Amino acid sequence: MTTLLPYGRQHIDESDIAAVCEVLRSDFLTCGPKVDEFESRFAKRVGARHAVAVNSATAALHLAMRVTELGPGDRVVTSPNTFVASANAAAFVGATPDFSDIDPISYNLDPSVLSRNWQSDTKAVVAVDYAGQPCDMPAIARIAHERGALVIEDACHGVGGGFMHEGRSWKLGGHPWADLTVFSFHPVKTMTTGEGGMLVTNNAEWAARARRLRSHGIERDPARFTASDPCFLTSEKGPWYYEMSELGYNYRITDIQCALGSSQLNRLDTVVNRRREIVSQYNAAFCDISWLTIPAVRKQADSEQISWHLYTIQIDFEAIDKTRTQVMLELRENGVGSQVLYIPVHLQPFYRRAYDYGVGKCPVVEEFYRRALSLPLYPSLNEMEIGRVINAVWRLAGR
Ligand SMILES: *Cc1c(COP(=O)(O)O)cnc(C)c1O
Repeated sequence: MTTLLPYGRQHIDESDIAAVCEVLRSDFLTCGPKVDEFESRFAKRVGARHAVAVNSATAALHLAMRVTELGPGDRVVTSPNTFVASANAAAFVGATPDFSDIDPISYNLDPSVLSRNWQSDTKAVVAVDYAGQPCDMPAIARIAHERGALVIEDACHGVGGGFMHEGRSWKLGGHPWADLTVFSFHPVKTMTTGEGGMLVTNNAEWAARARRLRSHGIERDPARFTASDPCFLTSEKGPWYYEMSELGYNYRITDIQCALGSSQLNRLDTVVNRRREIVSQYNAAFCDISWLTIPAVRKQADSEQISWHLYTIQIDFEAIDKTRTQVMLELRENGVGSQVLYIPVHLQPFYRRAYDYGVGKCPVVEEFYRRALSLPLYPSLNEMEIGRVINAVWRLAGR
């Protein structure tokens, strides 16, 4: 029996290993030059002024909530078709996470639903680019900004991707419709630092504050000191001096991780192109199957710009007279892993209990969830393995 193809997998080469080893032999394992280098290279790559690297995208989302001072009494609306962290970050700061339904084509927030169900206490929208396909960011930003709310883009799936708007191409992290953008470098994502995340913004104050909150809220820049002298027993503010100006965290990322991130960044285009090629091969193989829906793009113009993280199909399980569990087991018997991404977040026990959400709140995503299945997608899949996935899917209906 051949080994199981997982639904996602990191891509590590010898240059990554060399980059990490170099740090291990250097003076700094953390808070050193590799962090700055990764941040500035990443900011340049996506076209943003500031990038703050942290130890996860969950931390980056939390910092996004903190620097924009979201909190109790504020509603933060996100997509139910996401990993739980997109919504949890709002709960971390005491804001109310809420969910708005997806559109059935892109599986992303539907701007018309967002606008129709808008509530006056909504202060931010967390727009998630599911599978890597960008949300309709200009439409979402228009709705949010007109009502005085912020737009935080959860681009954890979409690093290296972008979209067309009015004849111009824009990168995720570098377009004007998101106030802050978050990326993840978990191994299953398109590029990795082991664990890690990035917060990207053009706002210098937010970036400086995120850097401070990343390390306990400690300020070392004399220009930003605020304490009056008697507070610290002496008027001397010598080289030892620092201030903790607000309550922060240890969300620091290491130089080891950032060296890996920088090395991965060198190959980002190659990796994104390879993922796109695999998606085209799957699409070509599956497009005529009546009981299966391949991923659709909202605007055809975007298809060349999408950085695909997931390949999610929808299966009409009734039509093939099998349950999803049976389908997953059959695929597995043929060496093909699969995963359900995602269980709608508003249906998680925590969200039902804490906010009284339940079935029927977002009918489109609930229908999507009933049929969704993600197949293996990662750059090191070879032609034989791609063939194995395709054959295993064809065989599901007894072909
Ligand atoms: C992976 C992921 C996160 C969380 O990323 P971590 O780096 O694991 O904290 C958040 N949102 C989405 C959409 C993700 O896929």
